[in-house]
Amino acid sequence: MNGSSRVYDVVVLGAGPAGENLADRTSAAGLTSVIVENELLGGECSFWACEPSKALLRPALARADALRVPGLRRAADAPLDVPAVFAHRDRMAFHWKDDDQADWLDSISVDLVRGHGRLDGPRRVVVGTADGDTLSLTARHAVGVSTGTRTALPGLPGLDQVRPWTNREATSARQVPDRLAVVGGGVVAVEMATAYRALGSQVTMLVRGHRGLLNRMEPFAGDMVTDALRAAGVDVRFGTSVTGVAREAGPGGTVRVETDEGEALVADEILFATGRAPRTGDIGLETLGLTPGDWLTVDDSYRVTGVPGGWLYAVGDVNHRALMTHQGKYQARIAGGVIGARAEGRELDDGMWGAHASTADSAAVPQVVFTEPEVAAVGLTSQDAERSGRRVRVVDYDIGRVAGAVQYADGYRGKARVLIDAERGTVVGATFVGPGTQELLYSATVAIAGEIPVERLWHAVPAFPTISEVWLRVLETYRDSGGTLI
Ligand SMILES: Cc1cc2nc3c(=O)[nH]c(=O)nc-3n(C[C@H](O)[C@H](O)[C@H](O)COP(=O)(O)OP(=O)(O)OC[C@H]3O[C@@H](n4cnc5c(N)ncnc54)[C@H](O)[C@@H]3O)c2cc1C
Repeated sequence: MNGSSRVYDVVVLGAGPAGENLADRTSAAGLTSVIVENELLGGECSFWACEPSKALLRPALARADALRVPGLRRAADAPLDVPAVFAHRDRMAFHWKDDDQADWLDSISVDLVRGHGRLDGPRRVVVGTADGDTLSLTARHAVGVSTGTRTALPGLPGLDQVRPWTNREATSARQVPDRLAVVGGGVVAVEMATAYRALGSQVTMLVRGHRGLLNRMEPFAGDMVTDALRAAGVDVRFGTSVTGVAREAGPGGTVRVETDEGEALVADEILFATGRAPRTGDIGLETLGLTPGDWLTVDDSYRVTGVPGGWLYAVGDVNHRALMTHQGKYQARIAGGVIGARAEGRELDDGMWGAHASTADSAAVPQVVFTEPEVAAVGLTSQDAERSGRRVRVVDYDIGRVAGAVQYADGYRGKARVLIDAERGTVVGATFVGPGTQELLYSATVAIAGEIPVERLWHAVPAFPTISEVWLRVLETYRDSGGTLI
C-alpha cells in the first residue's frame, strides 16, 4: 500500500453504487482495476440515502396499508415502535460499516485504495491515503469518475451555525425531533416528511413556488401526495421561501425559521432537501481544464466531453443524467462494456438500445417515491411530451376501480396514466400513484424498453385479482377511446 505509484488499466474514483459497478464491469472485461474511496464503500446510497431512508419508510407505509385492511385496523392503530424502527434502519445501513463491500471487491479482483483522490493531468489520479501517504495511480485505458453528490444548501446567512439537517442527518438520526421543518418539495423532502410524521414529529414543509410537490412528475402525483401528507397532519406550505435561520444557543436550542411571508416558524430541527450538487469541487478537474464544482457532461458512451484522448468517463449522479442508484448502476454496466470494447479495439454496438448505448437514460428512467401513496413513474410525462412536441395518446385510469385494488385496501385511492406514442403505438411513459404500485413499474419499463406494440401487450394477461389488472383497463380505455386495438 505504501508504494508511491502504480499502473492499472482502469482507475475508478468514488465507490458508491456507480463506481463499484464500473470497477466490477471493467474487471469482468479482463482489465486490471482499482477503486478509490474516501468514506464508505457503497456511497451515499447504502449509508445516508436509499437504504436507511427506505428502512425508515417501510414501517410507515406498512402501517398505512394495514390501517385500511379490515380486521387489521385495530391492531395497526398504534404509534410506531421508534427504537425498533431505528434498529431496523441501523441494520439496513449495515451499522455504517463496509467490511462486506471490501470483501466483495476483493472477490472480484478489484484493488481498493482508501483516501481522497484527485485527478492530476491525463490518466492520473493522486490519492492522499488515510495513513498520510501519497499514491499516484496511472490508468492505461480509462479513469472513471463517480464521486456522486451532496445536498445543495442555499446561501442563507448563518446557515452553518444552525446545524441544519441534510439527507445524512435525516437518515441517521438517533432521535425523532418534536418539530421538524422540511425545506423543499422534491423526492427527499416528501419521503422524509412521510417518515418523520409517522415517527411522531410535527412536520412543516416549506415549499418555494406554487408548482406543487414532486413537480417534475405528472401533477396528479404531487397533488395526491400533498393531500395524503395533509391528511396525516403535515403542514404543507407552498409559495414559501426561507429567508433566514437561527438557532438558540445551548443544548436543545430550537431553530427559528424566517420566511418571505414574514412568518417565523420554530422547529427543533430543519432539514434542507433542496437538491443535489456534484462532488467535483476538489477532484482536480482544473488539471484537465475543466471547472471544479461543475457537473461532468458526458456523451452517450459516458466519456466526459471536452477532454482530449477520450480516457475520462463519468457515471452516476455526477453526470447529472438521472440521480438514482439503479440508473447509475446501469450507466456503469454500459460504460464498463464500452471501456472493455475500446481497450480491445472492438467496434462499439452503440445504436439505439445497443449494448454500448445509454438509451435508457433518455427513454426509460424508472423512479419510485416511497410515500403514502407511492408514486412510480418511468419514461415521459405528459408535460415532457408536450414540451418535446411528441404526439402521444394519454390514457388515465382510476386504479381504485381495479379488483386487485379493492382487495388490497378499503377505499383504495390511486391513479394510472399511460402515454402511448400516437404513430408507433408503443408505451412511452407511465405513472402510477397508489399503495402497492411500486411493483407495477418494471412492467412499464419493460414495455418501453422492449418497444412492445399495444396490440402485443393485449396478450400479456395480468393475473386476477391483482393491481396489475390496471394494464388491462388502460388498454381497454385506449381501445374504447379510438386507439387501434382489436
Ligand atoms: C435521502 C435520499 C434517498 C434516496 N433514495 C433513493 C432510492 O430509494 N433509490 C434510488 O435509486 N436512489 C435514491 N437516492 C439517490 C441515490 O442515493 C444516488 O443516486 C446514488 O447514491 C448515486 O450513486 P453514485 O455512485 O453516483 O454516488 P454516491 O452514492 O454519492 O457515491 C459517491 C462516492 O464517491 C466517494 N468520493 C467522492 N469524492 C471522492 C474523492 N475525491 N476521493 C475518493 N472518494 C470520493 C464518496 O465518498 C462516495 O462514497 C436517494 C438519495 C437521497 C439523498
